Amino acid sequence: MLLGIALLAHALLAVSYPQQVWVTPLGACLPLGVVLSYCLGQAKGASGVLRVRWGLLAVGTGLWMLGWGMSAYSQLTGADTSVVLPYLMVFALRAIPWLLAIVLTSNRKILAHTRRFDIAQSALLTLAVCLLYFPQIAGGATFTIPLTGAHQYTYHELVNVIIAAVAVAFVPVQPTMSERHFAIGLAAMLVSYAVSALVVNHLIIGGIAPPPGSPWFLLIDVAAAVFMVHQMVLAQGTPTSDTLPVNGFRSIVVLLVPAVSPLAIILISIALADYHAVLAGSIACAALGLYVARSVLTQHAFQRAKRELEAAHAHMRWLAEHDPLTGLPNRRQLTQALNAQWDEHVKAEAPVSVMFIDIDHFKLYNDTFGHAAGDECLARVAALLQQAVGTMPQALVARYGGEEFVIVLPHTSLALAHRHAEHVREVVRHAGIAHMATASGRLSISIGIASAFPASEDPYPAGLLENADAALYAAKKRGRDQVNSQGLDGNLLPADQSV
Ligand code: GH3
Ligand code: MG
Ligand code: MG
Repeated sequence: MLLGIALLAHALLAVSYPQQVWVTPLGACLPLGVVLSYCLGQAKGASGVLRVRWGLLAVGTGLWMLGWGMSAYSQLTGADTSVVLPYLMVFALRAIPWLLAIVLTSNRKILAHTRRFDIAQSALLTLAVCLLYFPQIAGGATFTIPLTGAHQYTYHELVNVIIAAVAVAFVPVQPTMSERHFAIGLAAMLVSYAVSALVVNHLIIGGIAPPPGSPWFLLIDVAAAVFMVHQMVLAQGTPTSDTLPVNGFRSIVVLLVPAVSPLAIILISIALADYHAVLAGSIACAALGLYVARSVLTQHAFQRAKRELEAAHAHMRWLAEHDPLTGLPNRRQLTQALNAQWDEHVKAEAPVSVMFIDIDHFKLYNDTFGHAAGDECLARVAALLQQAVGTMPQALVARYGGEEFVIVLPHTSLALAHRHAEHVREVVRHAGIAHMATASGRLSISIGIASAFPASEDPYPAGLLENADAALYAAKKRGRDQVNSQGLDGNLLPADQSV
């Protein structure tokens, strides 16, 4: 509605004051005023990053209006070129809030440096843009489009196209629906302005321009109209979820986006080279330097993240397979190891033995010294067990649960296992851990042993553990602090019988 009135007012101005050059810039201010007030309203209603982005868009639009206003004023007062030129700078400066509005998406914080580099790259791009507008360097100069050579265009066109291209490049990287709507609106406005400005200037430079102030120049209002129509269409739609799914295309574009700004700067520096080669070369090098620094930091951050992930994964794996109190492999790792050993022993046709170890009267130990001391005692026994198996090749000590431990002895007969078990029992006894509830006054352990020749028809070693447990039960019954052996058939074997 307001936009319609603004466009009508511009058209009326053009009809009422034909041939007047000031009509076009003044008329351009009217729809931009509508856009400006809309942006301010949106900034007020939005929150977080989107609020800032709407605010920046409003500032850019305000500068745009100011530029047109200054242009109209200079036409009205007939000021000479030196007075007119500052409006070009105001036009150039609008690139600052616009570029910031484009790059400040809420997802550009994935890596700490990403946002800082986006801002630095935008600042350099703005500087490049300003240099093109700067009167003493290339202000108002024209260039011939390469290859065609047909027409000469002012640098406004190049700048318009570049900023529009940056805006388009950032559309796919928006993280939320509302930010995507914002970016599409901004890009649509900048693209349609770049196109309509090209058409208008083409008409002027081509010498087929309608008279100044003609309604033809309403073309430059297309950008504001496109923007407002897009916003109106959005307002019609029912709001959906604000989250956008991540897809392969978007993740590739995210990687390409940092290259857009250096490419744009290199393009500008090619245009600038005709007027100031050193300056042009310097900004191109700076753009390249920033890009390289950004890539190196990104690579470094990814490598660090990869190392951290691998370390975290290794730690999680350790936690999943170990008992935190004693640091010994837990029952899960014991089962896995025993299964692996079983298969290996089937092939090797060799015996495997296990010791089932249980601390004697441990409940009483806890009752006497407390649970904290009980924990310390468990850790101490675990260390003693590890120390005791030091001479036994490939022996695996695991905490089965509570005050029970299992030692797996690969390629070990029952007789040898029995001797090893006696050694283990002695090591614990000789450690001299005080325990009031036992006759000796020292902490002791009981050990049940089982041994088997794994066979392929018996694919799981559970029976071996059960037999060792049964042997342990018998050892407890016989008075504790002793070793007892049992074969796979369930018969208790005398200590000196070998398998
Ligand atoms: P037995 O000689 O027949 O094995 O008697 P016991 O007292 O050792 O056996 P029982 O099964 O009655 O008690 C085991 C005790 O081990 C009970 C429990 O409080 C203690 N226990 C199990 N896990 C832990 C632990 O992680 N820390 C501590 N401090 N105590 C534990
Ligand atoms: Mg027990
Ligand atoms: Mg016990």
